Amino acid sequence: MSNPTADVVIIGGAVMGSSTACQLAQRPDFTGRIVVIEADPTYQTCASARSAASIRQQFSSPINIDISLFGIEYLRQIGTHLQTGQDRPAIDLHEGGYLFLATPDKEAILRENHVLQETHGANIGLFDQQELKSRFPWLNMQDLSAGCHGLTGEGWFDGYGLMQAFRKKARSLGVEYVSAEATRIAPSGSGWDITLSTGETLSAGILVNTAGAKGGAELCRQAGLDVPVRSKKRCVFTFECREKLTGFPLLIDPTGTYVRPEGNGYICGSAPPEDQDPDCDDFDVDHTLFENHIWPVLANRVPAFETIKPGPAWAGSYDMNLFDHNAFVGAVPGIGNFLLALGFSGHGLQQSPAVGRGLAELIVTGRYETLDLSPLGIERLAANTPLIEKNVV
Ligand SMILES: Cc1cc2nc3c(=O)[nH]c(=O)nc-3n(C[C@H](O)[C@H](O)[C@H](O)COP(=O)(O)OP(=O)(O)OC[C@H]3O[C@@H](n4cnc5c(N)ncnc54)[C@H](O)[C@@H]3O)c2cc1C
Repeated sequence: MSNPTADVVIIGGAVMGSSTACQLAQRPDFTGRIVVIEADPTYQTCASARSAASIRQQFSSPINIDISLFGIEYLRQIGTHLQTGQDRPAIDLHEGGYLFLATPDKEAILRENHVLQETHGANIGLFDQQELKSRFPWLNMQDLSAGCHGLTGEGWFDGYGLMQAFRKKARSLGVEYVSAEATRIAPSGSGWDITLSTGETLSAGILVNTAGAKGGAELCRQAGLDVPVRSKKRCVFTFECREKLTGFPLLIDPTGTYVRPEGNGYICGSAPPEDQDPDCDDFDVDHTLFENHIWPVLANRVPAFETIKPGPAWAGSYDMNLFDHNAFVGAVPGIGNFLLALGFSGHGLQQSPAVGRGLAELIVTGRYETLDLSPLGIERLAANTPLIEKNVV
C-alpha cells in the first residue's frame, strides 16, 4: 500500500462493511479516504454469501421493524441507489411475504406482535383458521388457530447480489479494497494502527469493525471489549416438489422450521436443538437435521411435501448475539473512534441498508439522521438491559 494512512478503515468487506463503505462514500459531505480490509475476497464462507436472503417486518422489537421497513424501500430502489454507469443492479426481489403460524397457546403473542408491527406501518394480515385455509389451501391447519402474513414488504432476494452491488458501487466511488486479514489492531493517538497479514501496517482515524461473528469478536477483544457474539452453524437444505403450490410464502412453522420457494424448488432450515448447537468450526452439513427434524415437520405442515426430491445443502455461520439476539451497532463508550456492527443473529442481510446508512451518518455527523439506531447500542450490554427479539428464525 503506497499510502498507509486512511480516514476510515473498515475491517470486513462483506454486506455490512460494503454497505457502510458505499453509503459513506456516497455522502457529498465526506471526502476522506476509505479503505476496506477483507480477508477473503472470494467471500466463500462469510455469512453474507450463505444466507437465506430474506426480509421481514414481523419482528417483536420496534427497532427491527423500522430497520426492515427502511430496508425494503431501499431494496425496491436498488437499481437507483447503487447504479454505476449504465449498470443498474437487480436483486430479484420477490415480495412473497412471511407466514408466521400459531398454535392456540401462542396466538396471544402473535396478536401482540401484529399490533406492534401494524403500529409501525408494516402491512401484515392477521388471519384466523378459516381465512388461512382459503388463502393457503395446501396447508395442514389441524393444530393451528391463526397466522400472520406479510401482504407487502416481506420476501426474499439475491443476497449475494446485494453484497456485490454495494461493493461495486463503493469501488466506483473510490473506496479501496485490500485483500488481507487484519491480524492486530491497537490504539494510536486518537486513531488506530492495523497490522495486516501481508506484514503491512495501516493507520486509521476511525476503525469500523464489520468482521462478522468470529473475526469481529476477536477484533473487539484486541480493542479491550468482550462481546457475546458467537458463530453458530445453520444449515440450509434444498428440495423439489412435483405438486405446484401457488402463492407459497416464507412459511414459519410454530416449531421454528422455515421453508420458502427458491427457483423451481424450495429452501428450508431450522435451528438445531439448543443442546446440540456448539460454535461453528466447520461447514459440514448435518444431514440428520433434515431427515430427523425438518422433513417430518414440513411433511406434517404441507402434506404435498411428503413426496419431495432433496437437493444440495450448505452450512453457514450465524452471527449470534447470545445476550439478546439483536445486533450491536454504533460507537463503543470508552473506546475512541471504534465503531462496530456485529451479532445480527440471522437478520443482518436485510438490515445492511439501514445499518450501513446509520454508521455513515455517525462517522460524518456524530449522530443518526435517518433512523435512530441507538436502541442497538452496545451500552445495553454493560447496563444489562437486553433488547430481546422474540421472533428469531
Ligand atoms: C444460513 C444463514 C441464513 C441466513 N438468513 C438470513 C436471512 O434470511 N435474512 C437476513 O437478513 N440475514 C440472514 N442471515 C444472516 C446474515 O447473512 C448475516 O447477518 C450478515 O450476512 C452479516 O454480514 P456481515 O457483513 O456482518 O458479516 P459476514 O458476512 O460474516 O462478513 C464478515 C467479513 O469479514 C471478513 N473478516 C473477518 N475477520 C477479518 C479480519 N480480521 N480481517 C479482514 N477481514 C475479516 C470475513 O472474511 C467476511 O468476509 C443468514 C445467515 C446464515 C448463515
